[in-house]
Amino acid sequence: MPVLNYPLNILLLSTPVGPLGSGLGGGVELTIHNIAKALSQRGHGIKIVAPAGSICASFPLVEIAGELQTTAQSEGRDALITLPPDPVLANMWDYAHQVQDEYDLLLNFAYDWLPFYLTPFFRCPIAHLVSMGSLTEAMDRIIGQVALQFPNTVAVHTQAQAETFPFSERCRPIGNGLDLSLYQFCPEPADYLGWVGRIAPEKGLEDAVAAAQKTGMQLKIWGILQDAPYWHDICDQFPNAPVSYEGFLPTHQLQQELGKCRALIMTPRWVEAFGNVAMEAIACGVPVIAYRRGGPTEIIIDGKTGWLVEPDSVDGLVQAIARLDQIDRHACRQQAEADYSLAAMGDRLEQWFAEIAGARSQRGKGVNEWMGGRVME
Ligand code: UDP
Repeated sequence: MPVLNYPLNILLLSTPVGPLGSGLGGGVELTIHNIAKALSQRGHGIKIVAPAGSICASFPLVEIAGELQTTAQSEGRDALITLPPDPVLANMWDYAHQVQDEYDLLLNFAYDWLPFYLTPFFRCPIAHLVSMGSLTEAMDRIIGQVALQFPNTVAVHTQAQAETFPFSERCRPIGNGLDLSLYQFCPEPADYLGWVGRIAPEKGLEDAVAAAQKTGMQLKIWGILQDAPYWHDICDQFPNAPVSYEGFLPTHQLQQELGKCRALIMTPRWVEAFGNVAMEAIACGVPVIAYRRGGPTEIIIDGKTGWLVEPDSVDGLVQAIARLDQIDRHACRQQAEADYSLAAMGDRLEQWFAEIAGARSQRGKGVNEWMGGRVME
């Protein structure tokens, strides 16, 4: 049941760390695509603004030139705000500022300081979907200010992610969703495990490799090689482990390969905001073995759609691998259908937007001044 009466015109502003389709943006790339689908299925007008070189066949795309931002997860808590000389981030938001009157809502996907700082300077409301947990003092402070000044405009993916911020009660967990028709249920797995993600230290790949070595089960690895020295260290540390690097695949190929895995192993060292790969795995009927930390704890039903394991325990992974027969692959697919369909995600998004409108009207702006007066029930 749609929450909004009328279609909105929504401008989606992508991550500035990489073009869409490059993999540099991590899970946010798939999230943008799926949110655009969920909203356009309900009749909302969608346009995406993203760095030049982006690939997005299904939606109108405005490509913006400029230098990419560095990723926030590699810097310390005291990291300063940095921008290159010709920042794509600033160019994207300059574009948004120029066209804002054509839109009812701007939807920000950048985990970066500038869009939060600019929020009060826009006439058009901005909704922020925060894609990572707390990483730096500067980001905590600016997100917290926006969450206070513009109630309901800050969403996150999970409660675990929200709790990394000092203002967790002002963050709205909205989960995530995917196009289930693109993910095929695979009832009969092959005899190997999978690991999917950016190859970078916060993802803890070495523990999955250690578990493969201990069990002797093959581990296939898919994802962008974001930190090559980190990967080479793992190869040096485990020269005889039964692992193979399979490259970075587009979604339709990834789901085919992922579906054949006996299980997906997730070994995050950080508080994963969500963990798209967990949702993608269960959509294919693949159980997930993950550390009991961050987003995966809210996706996986322990003992039903996978196993949650003591964080950083390779032995825990090994024990869970031995218990994979207890997981019914049908139950995995069913959970994905119930919680992560585009329809379920669309409901959550529309409820979020309706509450933003409600909060603005309480602040005396009047709903008529927002979303063209066409808002909610
Ligand atoms: N991914 C992909 N091809 C690959 C490996 C990964 O498209 O070969 C995508 C995957 O579908 C997922 C993203 O990379 O959407 C990783 O997102 P996740 O939320 O798991 O972690 P993040 O990178 O955002 O920390």
